[in-house]
Amino acid sequence: MAKRKITVTTSWDDGNPLDFKVAELLKQYGLRGIFYIPGVSSLSDDEIRLLAEYGEIGGHTVHHYMDLKQLSDSDLDYEIGENKRQLERIIDGPVTSFCYPRGRFDERVIMAVQRAGYQDARTTRVLAIDSANVFRTDTSVHVFPRSEYGQREWEDVAKELADRAATHGGVFHLWGHAAELERLGYWSRLEDFFKWLTAEFEVIS
Ligand SMILES: [Zn+2]
Repeated sequence: MAKRKITVTTSWDDGNPLDFKVAELLKQYGLRGIFYIPGVSSLSDDEIRLLAEYGEIGGHTVHHYMDLKQLSDSDLDYEIGENKRQLERIIDGPVTSFCYPRGRFDERVIMAVQRAGYQDARTTRVLAIDSANVFRTDTSVHVFPRSEYGQREWEDVAKELADRAATHGGVFHLWGHAAELERLGYWSRLEDFFKWLTAEFEVIS
């Protein structure tokens, strides 16, 4: 029997040398990745350019302040716009996707993201397989023990949402931080999940 089709994307926040470990895994399993990189990440320009060969580079502000809602309009324009310009200079190409630090935003922040010229923006909310508004793109699963999962492991939640996305349409969106994968010892669990996902479905990236 033909495998069911599923649209999958993944995203990885904050820019970390361990992003290359994520990138290699994505490449191995034919999955798409967006790397959201703030100006204050520990990646060098050369590393960002190399990462851009594996996936897409997205914006995540200059300083990764905890709450963009607290900033003035001019500070928002700087934080969001300058990070975009820096990344575009580094990779010599367009940066069109943004991610709200800590998932904190309101209508004013969304307007600043639009003013900067971004085409979409990701939140940190989970359990979604579709989003009505491209500037509030919610995700399916954060590879982390989120309270939203209750007693369940992230893989169990991810498998259920992937099944739902394959059945009803929508996008299965998995995201995380490479530093968390390292700290929590999740690397082999992530690979096992990619193995399951690509064996179970025909993945469209
Ligand atoms: Zn972040």
